[in-house]
Amino acid sequence: MAKRIAIVGGGAIGAELAKSLEASATVTLIEQCSHYVHAPAMIRAVVEPSILDQALIPYDTLLTQGTFVQARAVSIDAGGVQLNDGSRIDADYIVVATGSENATPFKPKGADIAGLRADNARIHEMLKAASTVAIVGAGAVGTELAGEIAHFTPEKKIKLISSDATLFPQMPKRLGRSLEKKLVAAGVEVILGARAMNLENMTEPYAGVLELTNGQSVQADLIFPAIGSRGSSELLRALPDVKMGTANRAITDQWMRPSSLPNIFAAGDVAEMGDAMTVVATTRQLPWLIKTLKTVLVGQKIEDQKPYTPWKKAPILIPLGPFKGNSFLSLFTAGDFLTRQIKGKDLFLKKRNNFFDRN
Ligand SMILES: Cc1cc2nc3c(=O)[nH]c(=O)nc-3n(C[C@H](O)[C@H](O)[C@H](O)COP(=O)(O)OP(=O)(O)OC[C@H]3O[C@@H](n4cnc5c(N)ncnc54)[C@H](O)[C@@H]3O)c2cc1C
Repeated sequence: MAKRIAIVGGGAIGAELAKSLEASATVTLIEQCSHYVHAPAMIRAVVEPSILDQALIPYDTLLTQGTFVQARAVSIDAGGVQLNDGSRIDADYIVVATGSENATPFKPKGADIAGLRADNARIHEMLKAASTVAIVGAGAVGTELAGEIAHFTPEKKIKLISSDATLFPQMPKRLGRSLEKKLVAAGVEVILGARAMNLENMTEPYAGVLELTNGQSVQADLIFPAIGSRGSSELLRALPDVKMGTANRAITDQWMRPSSLPNIFAAGDVAEMGDAMTVVATTRQLPWLIKTLKTVLVGQKIEDQKPYTPWKKAPILIPLGPFKGNSFLSLFTAGDFLTRQIKGKDLFLKKRNNFFDRN
């Protein structure tokens, strides 16, 4: 009998894994949402809601041999996954790919895709009405958001606030310097080395006044918190011998196992194994996971397989609207042209929809 694999979470890594393994095992993909949320497009969608229809992709065309179950997993054990409707999926192997949460309106709250659409429409209206916008946090999401708003609505006064002394301090200096220059040229005020002391909400945009550690007061009609993702690790926390890392992620061993149960794996944002919380990380984890699970499915010992090694110098692409931006492509830093060609012009929407057989 074919081995059974249950994959919990159909995000960037879970959806691809399910499709890649459905011919090799009895695959069940358990996902709470009706639609795949293509996060890289959700930043521009705040300014250009018309792209939302391509960014939210129904799951019904994803699998041809495997089974898609729309449900919330409430617990896992060595033999399977318990669902919120009271049913259970028995499995020989389980991959937890429950990802992470982020701010409104970038990711849904739980399974609420209609709510995500409503939040997108509401925040878009707030943005249209705003003259001044402040973004707290200048990671990829905050920096891209500043660039998108500046590109599509250049009349707005935008302030991008970061407690770091430079943009992208972990990356080669050129990346941050060049992005800062382009943002400033587009009219964005980049405030570095200052922390917002009174951020009222970590996940919901709001109107208010920010007090910064450099003494500045920033009044804004719309303040976007952009302070990073938090792993959705509730299922993993309940497993034996789990160690939690940073940002609510569960630490895995070299074979992507987060607990002492040898047949349960975790990957993507929920799992800490030396990679950042990015789709880019999942593109490295995925081939390892597919190859390793296939060998385990035919009876080989996982400890005999090559352990996973994380990115040493992961690439990062930061478009500032559809035409500008900078990228670090592991070997070199690229400018407007490559950033636009690879990501900025369509934010991988065509590729994602092709993957779901939707074009
Ligand atoms: C606004 C934004 C823009 C981004 N842009 C980029 C980018 O341009 N490039 C890049 O590399 N990275 C980007 N990222 C990061 C990227 O989106 C994540 O790293 C990636 O989605 C992680 O994939 P994942 O499969 O681990 O988790 P997710 O994509 O978060 O998917 C997890 C899935 O699990 C489901 N789930 C959770 N709990 C349960 C449960 N109990 N039962 C059933 N289903 C459950 C969720 O509904 C979700 O569909 C961005 C993130 C954000 C927030």
